[in-house]
Amino acid sequence: MLQAPISNELFQRAQSSIPGGVNSPVRAFRAVGGHPRFMVSANGPYLYDEDGYRYIDFINSWGPMLLGHAAEVVQEAVLKAIPDSLSFGAPTRKEIEMAELIVSMVPSIEKVRMVNSGTEATMSAIRVARGYTGRDKIIKFEGCYHGHGDSFLIAAGSGAITLGVPDSPGVTEGTAKDTLTAPYNNLEVVQTLVDANKGQVAAIILEPVAGNMGLVVPKEGFLQGLRSLCDKEGIVLIFDEVMTGFRLAPGGAQQLFGVTPDMSTLGKIIGGGMPVGAYGGKKDLMDYVAPAGPVYQAGTLSGNPIAMSAGMAMLTYLQEHPEVYTQLDNTTASLVAGMQQNMQQLGRNYTINRVGSMFSIFFTEQPVVDFDSAKTSDTALFGRYFNAMLNRGIYLAPSQYEALFVSTAITDKLAAQYVQANLEALQEALNH
Ligand SMILES: *Cc1c(COP(=O)(O)O)cnc(C)c1O
Repeated sequence: MLQAPISNELFQRAQSSIPGGVNSPVRAFRAVGGHPRFMVSANGPYLYDEDGYRYIDFINSWGPMLLGHAAEVVQEAVLKAIPDSLSFGAPTRKEIEMAELIVSMVPSIEKVRMVNSGTEATMSAIRVARGYTGRDKIIKFEGCYHGHGDSFLIAAGSGAITLGVPDSPGVTEGTAKDTLTAPYNNLEVVQTLVDANKGQVAAIILEPVAGNMGLVVPKEGFLQGLRSLCDKEGIVLIFDEVMTGFRLAPGGAQQLFGVTPDMSTLGKIIGGGMPVGAYGGKKDLMDYVAPAGPVYQAGTLSGNPIAMSAGMAMLTYLQEHPEVYTQLDNTTASLVAGMQQNMQQLGRNYTINRVGSMFSIFFTEQPVVDFDSAKTSDTALFGRYFNAMLNRGIYLAPSQYEALFVSTAITDKLAAQYVQANLEALQEALNH
């Protein structure tokens, strides 16, 4: 085990001034054991911590650093924007350019509103859907995570699973009863819920590729089936593309799978590392948002000029370099192929799910298609594997129930290093 005395001391110190020592729960490493590493800097594929260790990063700030850390195009745009002031609280030309860029990239978006996080984006989208339809209920899927808004903390993924609090205290019964849940990839249950709540369902929200229970791929026909059902029942279909947006294709999962929702929520990559989110969709829905319409939603720092500069630099780069997606797909395919070979060598057949540059290994030999099958993974084994990888300088998401994100900074050589570390870490975790 690598000794990390400075990180350990900082984590100790953090306990007295920050709840659990962290500003977002999964960072605390509770699901994998050990103490989190405190970072000081990052560049390209590498993270550097307080103890002087270097890690190859496969989380990339939970997605945003698609081009690797400290990407020059993004950093330059930020530095250029700073002298003009950090915030105005008044409209700017950049916000129009950003909106136009998003509209040009994401198929479902005709109008868009900028916010400051993925959580704000999903909370606002649901409010618009409710205001527009005059209905109260929403349907979400078990194991999908849509940020920490009250309506979504029912059978939620990501940190909510990791900590074993799928239904958070503080969410009222009134709120909880308006959230109906179905297993991912299960159209029949959705149909049953819609039938039992005729004319009461405002929206169906989902991650079009689920990344917050580990990576789960939508089955053939699942997204199309939801699309038809929503059309028939006047339900607003919302794709939460906070994770998949600009990652799986310039236009996100909706472009990759050719299914267009009514509304989309965005985050992570859209800010290039700055705190940015957005929600958008059809004109008639978005014109329900104040001041155009009656649904209130606002933000003091929304459309912040520095954040817009970072996001615009990121998105412009992606729009102008579609080869990024081929590169990411190839790199990730080679990582997964290497992992498959490792498993063959060890006589194991664990499930690996992948779409583009997102993937997860589940320590179960059965297919993982929803939250129940994801939970068959041996999470104790995952914890040992995670720490064995960390000791080999590979930084993974510290929970079974997260996807890994590959950046363009992962070269063939680094990919080979990952595969070798994976073999050793699997052996170590299994021989424990
Ligand atoms: C990360 C995430 C969110 C929440 O975004 P924050 O910026 O953390 O509030 C919402 N939905 C999905 C799919 C996410 O992955």
